[in-house]
Amino acid sequence: MKSMSLNLRIMIGAAIGIGLGFWLLSIGESDVQRGTLYGAKLVGNLFLDLLRLVLVPLIFASIVTGVANLRQHQQMHKVWVTTLAFFFGTMAIAILIGFGAANFFRPGEGMHLAMFADATRDFQARQMPLPEYIAQFMRGLFQNPFKALAQGEILSVVIVALFLGIALVIGGERYRNIRGLIQELQELCLMIVGWIMHLAPYGIAALLLQLVATQDAALLMSVGHFIAVVIGSTLFHGIVVLPGILWAITGMSPWHFFKGAREALITAFATSSSAATLPVTLRCTEQHLHVRKDIASFVVPLGATVNMDGTALYEAAAALFVARLAGIELDLMHQLVIFFVAMLGAIGAPGIPSVGMLSMVLVLESVGLPTAAIAILLPIDRILDTVRTAVNVEGDMVASVVVDKLTRDSSK
Ligand code: ASP
Repeated sequence: MKSMSLNLRIMIGAAIGIGLGFWLLSIGESDVQRGTLYGAKLVGNLFLDLLRLVLVPLIFASIVTGVANLRQHQQMHKVWVTTLAFFFGTMAIAILIGFGAANFFRPGEGMHLAMFADATRDFQARQMPLPEYIAQFMRGLFQNPFKALAQGEILSVVIVALFLGIALVIGGERYRNIRGLIQELQELCLMIVGWIMHLAPYGIAALLLQLVATQDAALLMSVGHFIAVVIGSTLFHGIVVLPGILWAITGMSPWHFFKGAREALITAFATSSSAATLPVTLRCTEQHLHVRKDIASFVVPLGATVNMDGTALYEAAAALFVARLAGIELDLMHQLVIFFVAMLGAIGAPGIPSVGMLSMVLVLESVGLPTAAIAILLPIDRILDTVRTAVNVEGDMVASVVVDKLTRDSSK
């Protein structure tokens, strides 16, 4: 067991977790099922808690170090622009794929909202009109850094770290001590991540076991077509589009990429949280995909909060699904509004499980679709969140490799 690589152990853990999950599902309600689920919950939560333990200091230290070190290769401007352009470009492609799939396969056709009357009757979605969402989003950006760090407000931590990094760039050599200190903090956090990863095979097995064993098969069947369309198009984006872009720009083969990225992809799949996966993503990007440290430290944490291809694709496809259930034909103008709101929703979503559901309400409202339809989307979200989060995380790693390549040649 000792000599087996971590990657292999994670794969085996994932397979055992899924297998045991199906077994538990088949034996039904019993003491064995309850006991096993209890144990799985303990181990799964322990793994998540350990990842969260390093998360905030790691994001903070990584972004400060990433930005501060950009100074050295006179490429700051190019790194910024390339990163943001890549984030927005790939999210736009993802949304178009979501639209395309929903328009082509037409999930929801022949069904109508009334069929789900029981689910939607008492459902009150937490409504937030677009102007309020924007106001809240803006207010959440700038906060007392100590509060943001203590409460784990990821987006504000990112902003504080960006400011501090920029100040260190402008301040120059005079502040090299503090720069060195924060860089060392990042290295120490990554060392701790290395220890936590030894628990990853067990944590991932436990999380996947819970996921499989707690699914409601009847419900999955009833909206199976929609689930298949979302998972299929998300996988298309993750397996064909993103690796295709990566290959076209950097020449890196998909095989090489997935080999380096798989630890992070499996962790994202099992945890459904790009934020919790961030320590692993950073490790894979630097150590397996060999992206320069300063680029990875900048692109990956920023991407974990801003760049969400899977979420953007899902929101676009789900909006069209709900429209069809409600018997509403969305015209081009409506689809354009959904395009922008889905993008905004994906950017504002903080990278934790099922958070896409919150911005989903926003997307539905933006074009006057019934928000009660969330009652149908929520119970199936845990399963869709797996693939969506894995593709969100994949997008961050692809972005790092691309930015690394595009800014490398001219940085010397
Ligand atoms: N769970 C996703 C993530 O962490 C966000 C979402 O719910 O779409 O990346």
